[in-house]
Order: sequence, then structure tokens, then C-alpha cells
Amino acid sequence: MPAQARQMYINGQWAGSSDSRVFADRNPATGGLFCEAADANRDDMIRAIESARDAQAEWASLSHLQRAGYLNKVGDLLVERQQDLAANLCDEGGGWMGKCMFETSYAPNIMRAAAATTYDSLGEVLPSEYGKLTLVVRKPMGVVGVISPWNFPLLLTLRGIAFALAAGNTVVLKPSEETPVSGGLMVAELFEAAGVPAGVLNVVTCSRERVEEVGDELVINPAVSAISFTGSTAVGRMIAAKAGGMLKKACMELGGKDPLIILEDADLQRAIDATVFGAFMHQGQICMAAERIIVHESLADAVIEGVTERARGLKVGDPRDFANIIGPIINQKQLDNIHGQVTQAREAGATIHTGGEYQGLFYQPTVISGVTPQMRVFREETFGPVAPFTTVSSDEEAIALANDSVYGLSAGIITEDEERGLAVAQRLQSGMAHVNDCPVYDEPHIPFGGVKSSGMGRHGGRWAVESFTEPHVISLERGGRHYPF
Ligand code: NAD
Repeated sequence: MPAQARQMYINGQWAGSSDSRVFADRNPATGGLFCEAADANRDDMIRAIESARDAQAEWASLSHLQRAGYLNKVGDLLVERQQDLAANLCDEGGGWMGKCMFETSYAPNIMRAAAATTYDSLGEVLPSEYGKLTLVVRKPMGVVGVISPWNFPLLLTLRGIAFALAAGNTVVLKPSEETPVSGGLMVAELFEAAGVPAGVLNVVTCSRERVEEVGDELVINPAVSAISFTGSTAVGRMIAAKAGGMLKKACMELGGKDPLIILEDADLQRAIDATVFGAFMHQGQICMAAERIIVHESLADAVIEGVTERARGLKVGDPRDFANIIGPIINQKQLDNIHGQVTQAREAGATIHTGGEYQGLFYQPTVISGVTPQMRVFREETFGPVAPFTTVSSDEEAIALANDSVYGLSAGIITEDEERGLAVAQRLQSGMAHVNDCPVYDEPHIPFGGVKSSGMGRHGGRWAVESFTEPHVISLERGGRHYPF
């Protein structure tokens, strides 16, 4: 393995892959090499799993104050190293500097929210017909396998690992091959610096070519009790099926096609602002991005005109320049998918108001109107800087159209009438619905997750504790129960 290649973190040690393979991790803005990273094989994954298994009992036996102390220490280090971390996120993942500063300022709060869950009640006492003392105690599951994506690599990795660790599990993390450093190795550095015991967090990096072998081991190895997966629905479905076959719990955070509904009484400026942020933040590469703008016909022209004007003003280029709000798409495959959807919509009669073009991996912010439910851009996840508009004439029609999707992650509703907004929100088939906001919203203590093909299980606060613990019933008989023979 070349001396400069980034090593993995297994059992508190930094190591290359056992067959010395590495893979290239590129800066999507420049195409240059960001780094080379260890390309693990199945044996490396097995070592990491064994290390997590061996460390678990001791980690779980620490007092809640000790586990919280470690997690808060990582939180402090995240604050101290914010500038470095943000620079890595920008160069490795192609995020606008504003996005990277947001992500790095959110990260410590995840650690603190996770640390806070260690102070929560450990279970419940239930009544018993027989006068038994019946306890329901929340127990860690053992080793949790975490697989994370590239779009918010730091945030989504921490969300996957922090609550599981707080509950007394140990973790084997496999970050995305697009962001092995900001989604994995950088986190391992902070855990090491915080003095977290060896084996509690293990990070295994691998290329896309090897992910089937390495990922498979993480899911099927009997020493791994639960899976936390954040990524596409296609891969998630396969992993959930494998985990299901082994009767393992799987928390699946998958793709989205979130609606932003603009009702006829919406404040025009609010509607435009929510669309621009919801559709174009991080080039639309957000699971909760506003990917279907469903607007009342009376406001449609004004909103589309306003969003088009704003989209034309968004500067596109290397995100190391803060003025460039639109950075590169992560890779060619994603860009081809975006352009394929836009081209198909154009050919099917939709109007492109701006964008629809690209240079290298830089896709112009694109506004499309006349989008129908038959078009790919309405049905499939785009994950690009595209605002597709569909016009409706009533709240009923907006709700029906919003629910006409295999996905159900988040949603936004813009209206001047709060009651009307809440009534619409309640009828949406989604894990989350935000009135007078775009669909892109989350906080570390709030249950995050979707319905339908957007996943199952929840992250965040006490809902994450439920995801990564098992209820253990312990009863004490005190003479009230009589056997019939
Ligand atoms: P992806 O599914 O391609 O990859 C996600 C992770 O799975 C990566 O670490 C990848 O290496 C790994 N992986 C791929 N094949 C695997 C296999 N056979 N076995 C084990 N692991 C495997 O997704 P992506 O392109 O990294 O991320 C974008 C997708 O993630 C979008 O669909 C987006 O909506 C979704 N996402 C969802 C959420 C959420 O919380 N719901 C958040 C962010 C992103």
C-alpha cells in the first residue's frame, strides 16, 4: 500500500487492507486525486467485526456518564476541528462551503443529543395480575453495522453511529467509497483522539468493486446484530432482504421524491425561497430535497418566474470559492441520471425555463414546468439541481398528487393558513411534513425516517434508542402466581 494512502481503523489500530489494495478517492470539482484509501476485503471486515464484538461487553458496562463523556468529547473535538472538517467535506464531497459549515456545526449536536439519551430511563415497570415485579429493560443489541452515503457524509455517519454507541452497542462503519475520509476516517481520528476504547468504533473502507463482498459480510456475519443503512432504495432493499433473511433488525433510511406543495394562499416570497433552497441546496443531492413542486394554478406563473430568476443567479463552480453555491455532481453516473430525466421531460413536452445543461460534472440549476406524473422527473429520484413544477387546482388534487409516489420521506406545505397547512400535512403519506417550510429539515432529537420505499425505522433522539436496543423483560415472582397442577 502506498505510504500516503489513508488507512482503516480496526481495533484501535490504523491498517491497510490485508492484500494492500487501495482505491482512488477523487475531488469531484477538479477531478484530481483527493486521496487513496485502503480497499478492504472480506477478511478485513471480519477482523473489524470481531474487534467490535470483543469490545462490546466492556463498553456496555461503562456507566452512562462514562459513555456520555466520550461522546461529548468527540463533540468538543468536532467543534475544535470544524475548519479542517469543512475543508475536507468541500474537497472530497463537492459541497458548497456554506453546506460544509452547516454540516460541521450540526455534527457536535448529534453527539450531544446521543450523549443525552444515556440519561433517559432504562425501561419501564409494568403492572402484573399476579403482583409480579415486571421490568422491561432496554438492552444494547451488540454490534451494529453502519453503512453511510456520500451526500452528507459526516452528519449521516454520526447519526448512524452515535445513538447506537450511546445505547451500549459497538459499531463497524463502512462509509461510502465517494467519501471514505469525511464519512469515516476523519470520524475515527476524532474517536481515537477522544480516547474511546479500541474496538468500540471500527471503520472499514472499500471501493465500489469490493462493496458487494465487504458489505455482504457486514450484513450476514452472525456477530452483527443490527444494520443501520442510509443510501439508495435499490441497495437498501437488497440489504434489508438479506438482513431480514437473518432475522436482523435493520434501520433503513432510503431515497425520496419529496413534494413541496404551494397552496393558493401561499406567501409568494416564502414559496420562492422554500423552492430555491429545497431544490438547489447541495445541488439537490439531499434525500429530502424538494423534487416535486406542486403549485396552485393561480400562483404558478409568479412562482416559476421568481424561482427561474433566482436559479439563473446561482453561481456554479468549484465550491472552494464561497460565491459558488452550486458545486459539482458527485459522479458521472449521477449526472447522467439527472440529464436523462431532464431530457425525457423536455421531449415529453415540459418547458425548461433555465438550465438543462452541464459542463463536466457541473449541472446548471434547472427549472421545468408542465411536468406530468408520467415523466421520469416526477416519478424517479433525481438527486440533482432540478425544480420540476406541476400545477393543480385544489388542495385535494395537491394531496393526491403528493401521495402518488412510491416514496414517502418528507414534505413541505406553504400556506398563510396554519390550520389548512396542518390539515394537509396530516393527510400526506410521509415520515415528516413541514408547514411553511421546505421538506429539508431535521434536528438530532427528532425522529427522522420515511414510509413506503423511503425506508423503515427511525433515527434521532429516543426513537434511535428504540432502533438500536431490544426490550428485555425481567420479572420477579413474589408468591402471587399459582400453578394449576
Ligand atoms: P448507495 O445506495 O449507492 O450507497 C449507500 C452506501 O451503500 C454506500 O456506503 C455504498 O458503498 C453502500 N453499498 C452499495 N452497495 C452495497 C452492497 N452491495 N452491500 C453493502 N453496501 C453497499 O447510495 P448513495 O449514492 O451513497 O447515496 C444517495 C442515496 O442515499 C439517495 O438515494 C438518497 O436519497 C439516499 N439518502 C437517504 C437518506 C435518508 O436519511 N433517508 C439520507 C441521505 C441519502
